[in-house]
Amino acid sequence: MATGESQQGPGFIGIRFCDECNNMLYPKEDKEARVLLYSCRNCEFSKQADNSCVYVNKILHKVDELTHIVADVVADPTLPRTDEHPCPKCQTRNAVFFQAQSRRGEEEMRLYYVCCEAKCLHRWTEYA
Ligand SMILES: [Zn+2]
Ligand SMILES: [Zn+2]
Repeated sequence: MATGESQQGPGFIGIRFCDECNNMLYPKEDKEARVLLYSCRNCEFSKQADNSCVYVNKILHKVDELTHIVADVVADPTLPRTDEHPCPKCQTRNAVFFQAQSRRGEEEMRLYYVCCEAKCLHRWTEYA
């Protein structure tokens, strides 16, 4: 069985299979430990990704995409604001939030938050 490790193109993370039931594993972010896990949707099995470089690249890419829209987002009066989700960086309770559907519909829906403090503009995501 070929692993495909050597032919990873940009954004390609490789396909892993569950040790327990042999179903495909899906990449999943462990926010507390800040690591990428591969987890099975069929059973409880999950394991830590062994290629953290891929993970870093992926995250940087995501953040970069978001950077382009942040300026528009905080200036958009039509977007909902919340004071119930303090900025993790500066604790300001004034964030714009919006929902973004990932390209793959099967991934969890994420909420993007952007801190409206002009000096901060920190953005983060939470699962809906
Ligand atoms: Zn499994
Ligand atoms: Zn902030």
